[in-house]
Amino acid sequence: TRLADADVGAVDTHCPYCALQCGMTLSPAGRASVRVRPRDPSAGGLCQKGWTSAALLGSPARLTTPLVRDGGTLRPASWDEALGLVARRIKEISAERGPDAVAVFGGGGLTNEKAYLLGKFARVALGTSQVDYNGRFCMSSAAAAAHRAFGLDRGLPFPLADLEGADAVLLAGANPAETMPPFLSHLRRAMDAGGLIVVDPRRTPTAERAALHLAPAPGTDLALALGILHAAVAGGRLDHAYVAERTTGFEETWRVAAAWWPERVERVTGVAAADQRRAAAMLSEAASAYVLTARGVEQHATGVDTAGAWINLALALGLPGRRGSGWGCLTGQGNGQGGREHGQKADQLPGYRKIDDPAARAHVARVWGIEPSALPGPGRSAFELLDALGTGGGPSALLVFGSNPAVSAPHSARVADRLAALDLLVVSDIVLSETARMADVVLPITQWAEEDGTLTNLEGRVLLRRRALAPPPGVRTDLEVLHDLAVLLGQPPERFPADPETVFTELRAASEGGPADYSGVTWDRLRAGERLHWPVPRRPEHGQPERDKPGHDKPEHDKPGHPGTPRLFLDRFAHPDGRARFAAVDHKGPAEPPDEEFPLYAITGRVLQHYQSGAQTRRVEELRAAVPEAYVEVHPDTARRAGLSDGAAAAVVGRRGRVVVPVRCVPSMRPDVVFLPFHFPGAQRANLVTNPALDPVSRMPEFKVCAVRLTPAGER
Ligand code: SF4
Repeated sequence: TRLADADVGAVDTHCPYCALQCGMTLSPAGRASVRVRPRDPSAGGLCQKGWTSAALLGSPARLTTPLVRDGGTLRPASWDEALGLVARRIKEISAERGPDAVAVFGGGGLTNEKAYLLGKFARVALGTSQVDYNGRFCMSSAAAAAHRAFGLDRGLPFPLADLEGADAVLLAGANPAETMPPFLSHLRRAMDAGGLIVVDPRRTPTAERAALHLAPAPGTDLALALGILHAAVAGGRLDHAYVAERTTGFEETWRVAAAWWPERVERVTGVAAADQRRAAAMLSEAASAYVLTARGVEQHATGVDTAGAWINLALALGLPGRRGSGWGCLTGQGNGQGGREHGQKADQLPGYRKIDDPAARAHVARVWGIEPSALPGPGRSAFELLDALGTGGGPSALLVFGSNPAVSAPHSARVADRLAALDLLVVSDIVLSETARMADVVLPITQWAEEDGTLTNLEGRVLLRRRALAPPPGVRTDLEVLHDLAVLLGQPPERFPADPETVFTELRAASEGGPADYSGVTWDRLRAGERLHWPVPRRPEHGQPERDKPGHDKPEHDKPGHPGTPRLFLDRFAHPDGRARFAAVDHKGPAEPPDEEFPLYAITGRVLQHYQSGAQTRRVEELRAAVPEAYVEVHPDTARRAGLSDGAAAAVVGRRGRVVVPVRCVPSMRPDVVFLPFHFPGAQRANLVTNPALDPVSRMPEFKVCAVRLTPAGER
């Protein structure tokens, strides 16, 4: 099915960027003139990225023709030539080296339907285990910590609107004032009540709004969480009844935390003991309190344990699983939540099932019409996959959908070398990203406003993002690309539908009975405006076939549907015993601490105007004009000691590379820290210095801290 040519008219839809998925109305008057309005100004409206999101639809940077590498350069080609070449090379490489020689790399911005079909394409059409996605770099650590603590991961296990009643909120490693500004409207009460606590080594725009800003040395926030837990317990603030009735493992956790009294933590983190005690008091004395974490907590080689330490604090105060309080994780990418549920992850199958679970394999294989034995097992995690490319034992072909790993992966010079060593690199994208520039074949695809699809936002709510205008001639949807390629690889056409609603219907069946059960969600319900947070099992009985119940012959949308699950864990947590688990985690510190040669911590993060690798936002004139290039934020004394002043060209030199950027002197910076935004390519790539040390559980790289020195750009 190809998309029709006509524009649809004014359409209520959602922003193409972050996981807040703000509602917007698009009114197209031709491709170059699409009016954007917020649908719910009372929920914070839109940020600058959202307001300008339509600019890319008519951008001259847009790809509209497939490109094929020929004699070292990319030249236009027909779809038949491009896809024929891809299919032929995949068959050759797979025949020569086996199916795992072909790998797939997906993205947390892909719709649920794309994420689902991509995982199925990898495992069924390619027969490869080598599939993972950039969400591994995003919130895999919090997901693993939540699974360990609660038996289930859903970013916010409560509706966003619940935060509006909070008197105290601790935000650890989150900077929503820049990453998702409308989110702050939900914290208005906490901010007005002087109840906002921000944990961040930088004085970010979010920290500016806090009543209490705790600025630990990078890589020490696990110790800080232990210190606040210690302060809470020593101050008589432990919720004994909750801990006894709803949790296990407190004693082991306390045995570790008992050794982290606030004065000791102050020596490690630099955060005053009195401030740790104040944070414990603010959270425990509030009638409604939340602990929220994000990438600053997760992107460490100890990311799972660090997220776990903040969960421990929330459990000790009796917050999770109670109405009006809790722990949650702020998901980053647009479909960061749905992207990790539907099977594009190396260790997962749809429905948020584990790929090594025999029952899960049998269920998904049945839906896919294959034998369970034909399903590949777990593959390499994102960085390990990228790092193996083009090596003797690793894949020699890679298909990339919705990602730009040449900029966004850690140790990016090494990753670029690996990409260059491939026999076949195929990139499906809307613009010629840095990764696409390296490709053998580039496939031009539709943008968000030109196609229908669902996403799952940071509160686990399934949203329909709707088509508002016709795509330019020459582009196809990712689903069409997967369909066409699967057919060329010998698959029956009906096994890989290109229609998103048909894919979603299959996704529902594949997810049924799994932790993230979408079986009761239909597009009709979403079109009708229902707010459905998963799990949404099929009525009448979870796991019971519809045909066995009265009224099964009625169309589904005529029957009352399961209302969804806005609040998880109110009665019990998802572990078999219904209890949450403390984790006895201890402080280790960063994998690469500063030393004589590299005496500063480098930390990375986002700016308001740009998103992820910047492939989209750097091509929006208003955003580029506001922040045209990267920079390094440093304390003025640190700059002076390095022989630098504001605006001077500096080299941030680490063990893996050097980033050349202008200096921005910021008096509020810790003198031992420099900050690099990560949205920029070439010599300004922050990931030239970042450390690919991986968390042993989540396989998350340590993006957030590495050791560097600062010099004038001309010096080595
Ligand atoms: Fe879009 Fe996120 Fe900005 Fe909302 S906060 S407008 S979803 S980028």
